[in-house]
Amino acid sequence: MSAKIRLYVEHALGQGQSVELTRDQAHYLFGVMRLSVGRRVAVFNGQDGEWLAEVAEAGKRGGMLTCVERTRPLQLPPDLWLLFAPIKKARTDFIVEKAAEMGAARIMPIQTEFTNSERIRQDRLQAHAVEAAEQCGGTFVPEVAELQRLDRVLDAWPDHRQLMFCDEAEVGSALRLSANNKGQPWAILIGPEGGFSEPERKRLSRLPYAHVVSLGPRILRADTAAVAAMTMWQQALGDWA
Ligand code: SAH
Repeated sequence: MSAKIRLYVEHALGQGQSVELTRDQAHYLFGVMRLSVGRRVAVFNGQDGEWLAEVAEAGKRGGMLTCVERTRPLQLPPDLWLLFAPIKKARTDFIVEKAAEMGAARIMPIQTEFTNSERIRQDRLQAHAVEAAEQCGGTFVPEVAELQRLDRVLDAWPDHRQLMFCDEAEVGSALRLSANNKGQPWAILIGPEGGFSEPERKRLSRLPYAHVVSLGPRILRADTAAVAAMTMWQQALGDWA
């Protein structure tokens, strides 16, 4: 029988392993989806691949699953970070969801000079990444970092991590990614609605690991730009090929 329900659990998974459910998970499985003892679901924890698990106990406030067999190995995404300046709530949620689906390894909200939002709810955004992984069949959940300032992130930039700098000032030019740096760690940077400031643009374009890229002849909203940039990167350097 194929398991349609996929659940992310914070629990080790292995042959015969019991997995205790949280109250929310029990509510979802037994209250909403009406599963009973003996029914099967797919579970993953971001580390041990995907497992077929059987309902062993079903209660209102809790329950237990038992792992039956591993159905898929852990599949890690390429080493790609998505750095983006958070925008309005619903659009920020969208960016996190799409980044998880598109195969980002790490999602980093970044405060730039013209970033409109000074706060994010990291826990809520992380929950969106979990939901996206449940939904898209992923076995890995990207970590959503806390909001950090762009200048500090650049100060501490790791050696050898290439940066795809999506610069709206290059709209319409033919700046593309070359496949030269395939297999290396990468990051994509998307600016806020207000775009990048001149000092930011200057600093970014001088960095030895930065690759300035245009996303075509139109200015895209930041959420569209994030998806377009990840598509472009996956196609040229990622795991689509
Ligand atoms: N307010 C700015 C646009 C910001 S768009 C202006 O009018 O100039 C938000 C972000 O999406 C940008 O900072 C950039 O990272 C990305 N972006 C949008 N369209 C782009 C394009 N055609 N080329 C490169 N980056 C783009």
